[in-house]
Amino acid sequence: MIAGLDFNTLLLVNTLTLGLQAVALAYVWQVHRDYRPTRAWAIGAALAFAGTLPAMYADPAPLLEVAGDGLCFTGIVILASGIVRACGRRPPGIAGFLLAAAATIASGATFVADAPPQCRSFVFALLMVVAHGYAAGCLFSSVPGPLRATCRLIGAVVGLQAAVALLRVSTAWQPADLLGLGSAVSERAFLLATICITFLLVWVLTLLTSRRLQVELIDAARHDPLTGLLNRRAFAEIADREWRRSGRARRTVSALVCDFDHFKLLNDRFGHAAGDDALTAAADILTRTLGGVAAVSRHGGEEFVALLPDIGLDGARLIGEQIRAEVAALTLAAAPGAALSVSIGIAEAGPEHAGWEDLVAEADRALYRAKAAGRDRVVLA
Ligand code: GH3
Ligand code: MG
Ligand code: MG
Repeated sequence: MIAGLDFNTLLLVNTLTLGLQAVALAYVWQVHRDYRPTRAWAIGAALAFAGTLPAMYADPAPLLEVAGDGLCFTGIVILASGIVRACGRRPPGIAGFLLAAAATIASGATFVADAPPQCRSFVFALLMVVAHGYAAGCLFSSVPGPLRATCRLIGAVVGLQAAVALLRVSTAWQPADLLGLGSAVSERAFLLATICITFLLVWVLTLLTSRRLQVELIDAARHDPLTGLLNRRAFAEIADREWRRSGRARRTVSALVCDFDHFKLLNDRFGHAAGDDALTAAADILTRTLGGVAAVSRHGGEEFVALLPDIGLDGARLIGEQIRAEVAALTLAAAPGAALSVSIGIAEAGPEHAGWEDLVAEADRALYRAKAAGRDRVVLA
């Protein structure tokens, strides 16, 4: 069936596909300007498209064809670099451009040596093996977090392109090629596969962009922007889960509520920015002290709430004392001479608490007593 395909028609379809890819990725860039890799995808795709245009002429001048190859190779390298950047790795930079330049010189040499046209296609395939193979390697290794699965999907598509190109390279040395197809046919099969993969690539890159945006939005919806701690909503979700788990396992759980003392005075005396610095510094202390064992949230204003699974009153009191002491030892560049302190209320879950909200309310009452008793102290319920 592939043997029946007209090569020039395939070339035209390839150019149209690359044009569509350039338009689609330019649109992705336009919509997601803050996501740096999209720029490389759009520019790379546009160059790759421009590079195929000379082949649309019936009999293009060799110089025009080599210039087209140069654009195309540079575009492929830039696009692959953008993909590498998207998976959190440093793109190869100058090495990539040297690769594109070397491939362009090799392509020019095929004209000078009057080599058969397959030689140019061989150079093209070899460049694809290196650029896409490198990108696929990056996508399959060390992509942390929630984008991991999507990066691997892109890795599969880019890796497929590298594999198809490798097959093309290997068949160039064997006239009776691996698929048992003639070399003219394998040339067409290569082009056909490349066209299909171009569509797949646009799809997976768009998918990655929207997935990344989704991850960012979920993160922003769950965290307080100033301190990076969980916000009230995310804390409630985690606390619900933790409360049920502790109930099933009959394990103890404690709540800790921490509130700055006379915070309004700090703001009034040193300004809101100094108050923000104090909140950030306290959040760091809470994360360092509790991060490994508990869900910590900024519950509002200058109040923090934590749920401590597997920790009874004694353990929680020690942790509370440590937090209190560390805050008291803080010095803020923005508030020289300011004496910072927090009051902390702690309660341990008992049969009288129907839910974690009751437990936090009890810790809050203990906090109120700490304030009434003179502040800068830890009070147990
Ligand atoms: P107390 O010891 O009784 O807790 O007194 P307080 O002054 O800490 O309590 P109060 O609730 O009267 O004041 C809380 C202040 O926290 C008021 C508000 O301006 C300030 N605040 C709330 N959110 C922020 C914030 O994001 N940044 C800054 N700088 N201040 C904030
Ligand atoms: Mg306060
Ligand atoms: Mg308060």
